[in-house]
Amino acid sequence: MWNLTEEQQMIQKTVRDWAAAKLAPRAEQYEHDKLFDVALYKEFAGLGFPGIRYPEALGGGGGGILDMCIWVKELARVLPGFAISASVACGLGAKMLGYGTDAQQQTWLVPTIEGTMIGAFGLTEPNAGSDATNLQTRAVKDGDDWVLNGAKTFITNGIVADYILVSAKTGPGKSEIGIFIVPQGTEGLHAAPIDKNCWYSSDTALLSLENCRIPADHLIGAADGGLNLLTNNLNEGRVTFAAHCYGIAEGCFDGALDYVHQRTAFGKRVSDFQNTQFKLAEMKMKLDLAWTYIMRAAAEVESNPGAGVTASICKNYAAQICEEIAREARHLLGGYGCMNEYAVGRLSRDVFVAEVGEGTREINYRVIWKALTQNYR
Ligand SMILES: Cc1cc2nc3c(=O)[nH]c(=O)nc-3n(C[C@H](O)[C@H](O)[C@H](O)COP(=O)(O)OP(=O)(O)OC[C@H]3O[C@@H](n4cnc5c(N)ncnc54)[C@H](O)[C@@H]3O)c2cc1C
Repeated sequence: MWNLTEEQQMIQKTVRDWAAAKLAPRAEQYEHDKLFDVALYKEFAGLGFPGIRYPEALGGGGGGILDMCIWVKELARVLPGFAISASVACGLGAKMLGYGTDAQQQTWLVPTIEGTMIGAFGLTEPNAGSDATNLQTRAVKDGDDWVLNGAKTFITNGIVADYILVSAKTGPGKSEIGIFIVPQGTEGLHAAPIDKNCWYSSDTALLSLENCRIPADHLIGAADGGLNLLTNNLNEGRVTFAAHCYGIAEGCFDGALDYVHQRTAFGKRVSDFQNTQFKLAEMKMKLDLAWTYIMRAAAEVESNPGAGVTASICKNYAAQICEEIAREARHLLGGYGCMNEYAVGRLSRDVFVAEVGEGTREINYRVIWKALTQNYR
């Protein structure tokens, strides 16, 4: 159980080689240009990885959560921004299309699996982040259409996506939420880039929806069934995001290990100082524990998608060690840790957002605490 299968080792090697050849040489340029390279994503998608988690009947690979974790972490260890856009393009929101009608799946999901379409997931709003039931975006039925009004913020792929899965209130009740497929180019949908200080190679947008008219067949499932769709996907998303955090940590660790064997100070290699050795040994311990837990969580959430405590522990621990390892790795590079030419400097820019995505640290602690206290209520 604790070793990758031959097939998983092949996924890892293929993506690692691809990322080293195609992504690493362009990484700094993408960061400088603040660009998610859609053409490169489509080239990557041609290898079949975006479809890995989807049923073979839809053209997917029929693989498990761990298979997706492997390719996500391999991209994240080179360029986290590209990795997040790639995983959102085919994962996060798109997985909800699995609950859609056959027609919705053929129109939107199959091209997503093939990598010819890019998806985005629009839940967060300027005044509703962690408290997702406080959405202000409204969907009102008008004849055969739904009319959407509201705003969404921090939406990954919001500009480059072919469609955005938008969550909107369909009634006054807290849980009356529907998920709508809003095609890019819909009249009244406007997307503007957001100037952020992380994930430069990812596209992040502020969306406004002004009287966006959507045909009735663009609603996924029931008009008040959105909350279920969101929670069904939550735990898998957290485990996959943990793999993203792990990838950043591993990239920082590898960069630091390499650097300390080359750099000299006081007539010695930096790796000869015992402080350096202990730091790297500690980082390795954290990495191995995080990956072992990701493997466990992937298996557990696959057999029980409601395994919330495991998913939250997995995500929080990976995000925590990601931040710790990046900080120490950067320090081992001295001033060069602040330079863009070193991958460690670039990767460690992206650790802060690890504590925010897929539920902030506190939101995941809440899940764990609720389980701890249930017998005392
Ligand atoms: C680069 C980037 C990309 C993103 N991509 C997407 C995307 O594609 N789609 C999407 O829908 N969203 C996306 N998000 C949004 C992300 O999911 C939210 O930022 C996150 O859920 C937190 O919401 P918030 O920013 O509104 O913070 P808030 O919810 O306002 O939280 C602020 C602080 O309060 C704390 N807090 C909140 N509630 C509690 C509580 N009950 N107990 C204790 N502390 C609490 C939080 O932990 C946090 O520290 C993205 C965010 C970023 C930064």
